[in-house]
This record gives sequence, structure tokens and C-alpha cells, in this order.
Amino acid sequence: MSYLKTTGIVIKEVNTGEADRIVTIFSKNKGKISASAKGARRPKSHLVAGTQLLCYSEFVLFKGKDMYSVTSCDVIEPFYDIRSDLERLTYAAHMMEMVNDVIFENQPATRLLQLFLNSLYMLTKTDKSPLQIVRIFEFRLLSIIGYAPWVSGCTECGSTLFDSMYFSFLKCGFLCGGCLAKDKGAIRISEGAAKALNYIVYSKMNNLFSFEVSENVLDELGRVSRRYMRDRLEKNYNKLDFIKNINGVKC
Ligand SMILES: [Zn+2]
Repeated sequence: MSYLKTTGIVIKEVNTGEADRIVTIFSKNKGKISASAKGARRPKSHLVAGTQLLCYSEFVLFKGKDMYSVTSCDVIEPFYDIRSDLERLTYAAHMMEMVNDVIFENQPATRLLQLFLNSLYMLTKTDKSPLQIVRIFEFRLLSIIGYAPWVSGCTECGSTLFDSMYFSFLKCGFLCGGCLAKDKGAIRISEGAAKALNYIVYSKMNNLFSFEVSENVLDELGRVSRRYMRDRLEKNYNKLDFIKNINGVKC
């Protein structure tokens, strides 16, 4: 018999049968794992808490013929406050969707897991702007999986004059005013947005969230990230439109 012990966070849950659940776990040891949790919806089940969406737990999984099943789970961090707040939950759902799309079975992605947990922590335990947390998460996720935009200077001439930069989706990074002929479709970005992008891509994980930007810069980052994500991941991520609709936030 084969057991796997790993920490992980539930990123998808599907109810099956009368009281069962199939969960997708973003695990530390094995990347994406699907596991059945028998009886997990019964109120007295020892699996009820740890198999809920966004619960970070230590799991013991039994490897069956077709899929894993959850033998036990000890909750490490339940991120309760996210689930009780519709707005936070929407931001978390957006991040969850991206994570679900870019992780794979048997491929540990520890840096991405750390980014995801840190982002959820910031979303739950701090009063940091959720939109800023999400923008940082998006660009850093893309960087971790190999799609880092070139934001240390102009992709053509190397200029680091951040007060006159454009973002080129064609070149996947900055173009300075002097090199704009290389991509006339590049969009002008402010010095603040250029510096923020540079910080998000190159800073250490420990310091990743420790900067502040204006709402205007967040708007700019949003415009770049939406299209850059669509180009790189070939998908429109629309969950944040819900927040835009309910309270007019530009996402
Ligand atoms: Zn240049």
C-alpha cells in the first residue's frame, strides 16, 4: 500500500454522490493532485474542514488504482476570512483559476505555491489593496512559469530611463521612446508603473508586497496584465469583472 504525506491547498472541489467530494490539491510534493474524499460533506467527518476550498492542510493520501483518496488532513491555515467576504473570495477565485491552469500532476511548483499562499495571506491578514495583491500575483506567476516580461530596461537599446517607457506586447517588455518604431502598438506607461513592474518581476519573494502604488498605476498595471495574460496563457480571465460590476473598481 502506498501513502503520500504532503502539505497542500485545495484549489477545486466537486461534490459527488451523497456526501463525497473530489478535491484538486495544489501540493508541495507533487504539484496538482486529484483526490476523492469519502464522506467529506458529512458534518462529523474528520475530512470536512480540510477538504474545503482554499484550506491549506497537511494531507495523508492513499494512492489507489485510479486516483488518490484523502485518508486524513490536519488544517494548517483555513483562510476563513476569504470565504466569508464575497469580494475577497472573488480575488482569490481569480488567482485560483490561474494556478489551476498552470500547474500539472507530478510537477512540484514550490515557488508558485509560496507565491499563492503569500498572496492569500496578504489578502486575508492585511489591509493591503486586494487589487494590488492580485496584480503582483499575476505578473509574478507569469515570471515564475517562464513568461517574465523584459522590464529591466528597453528591450532594444537597454535604456533604463523609466520616465519614458512604453510596454510592447510584441516584444514582451519595455520599449523606450527612441525605439518606439520597433512596435508602434506599444502603450505608454508612467514611471510609477514601469518601476512597479520592475519591482514585481525582480524583487525577492520576502519583499514582494512591500511597496505602494497609486490607483492610476494600478489601472495601468491592470491594462498591461489583462492583455499580457491573454497573450501568454491564451485565455481571458474574467472573474474580476464581477467586482468591477458591483462597485465600479477598475480591474
Ligand atoms: Zn530603446
